[in-house]
Amino acid sequence: MRVVDYFTGTPTTRIGDIRVTSLLDGWLSLDGGAMYGIVPKVMWEKQLPADGNNRVKMAMRPLLVQTPTHTVVVESGIGQAIPPDLHERYGIERLGPTLDQLVAAQGVDPSTVDTVACTHLHWDHSGGLCKLVEGKYVPSFPNAVYVAQKGEWEIAINPSNLHKASYAPETLKPLQSKLRTVQGDGEIVPGVYFEFTNGHTENHAVIWFESNGEYGVFFGDLVPTISHVPTAWISAYDINAGGSYHAREKLYPKVVERNTTCFFYHEPEWPVGRMLKDRSKYRAEPLRS
Ligand SMILES: [Zn+2]
Repeated sequence: MRVVDYFTGTPTTRIGDIRVTSLLDGWLSLDGGAMYGIVPKVMWEKQLPADGNNRVKMAMRPLLVQTPTHTVVVESGIGQAIPPDLHERYGIERLGPTLDQLVAAQGVDPSTVDTVACTHLHWDHSGGLCKLVEGKYVPSFPNAVYVAQKGEWEIAINPSNLHKASYAPETLKPLQSKLRTVQGDGEIVPGVYFEFTNGHTENHAVIWFESNGEYGVFFGDLVPTISHVPTAWISAYDINAGGSYHAREKLYPKVVERNTTCFFYHEPEWPVGRMLKDRSKYRAEPLRS
């Protein structure tokens, strides 16, 4: 059995003139069978060991993205979206600081964050977009525009029974007046843009970084950890597994060809990697420099 070295640091990577810092909101333990879909346990547990409840422990790592012209936060962690009495159910271990405090700890004044974007709005990705002040949710970054896919926002704000367990609309409603929606591929700020994928949710989109001929990509939940890189290792949480597979087939050749720096939101051990193709198979190696 492999021993995972859970990484709690904050690596900063450069993509041309863009600085990307991987923050850590905390940890989440989800059923390993669900996280790896059709992959048998004898295979996935070599990648991530299961606990006594068959759960695997994963990180939540939002990004602080500093471009020459903008200060952007990508994804938010769970924040204060889930009441502490439900933390046991999901194996939630929060480190404590709110997202604006994590940003401030990097020497960046939270009031200077001008843009916040999410790949999708499940509560483990969007719960920290707002924080609790005197029992009320208020935007974590008062001067930011919040960017999301239009269809994703519409589902998140008024979820059906199919989606109810995955979204926390009360933590999103205060953002309505600060929201900018995008449909499909589109720019977030110069050098940072969505590529629409579908798959994990109906309106999931990954986020690219591009500067001076260098590329980075934040996979959101299309590829939640480094161990999910093989094209058929698709989580059972994905609403459209076939869509995830086709999105990976379209995305991966570009990721390899561009020598792209890859950011993995749920990766417990090392959140930054490079994707490689060995014959017909894709894998990723951590970038520890
Ligand atoms: Zn997630």
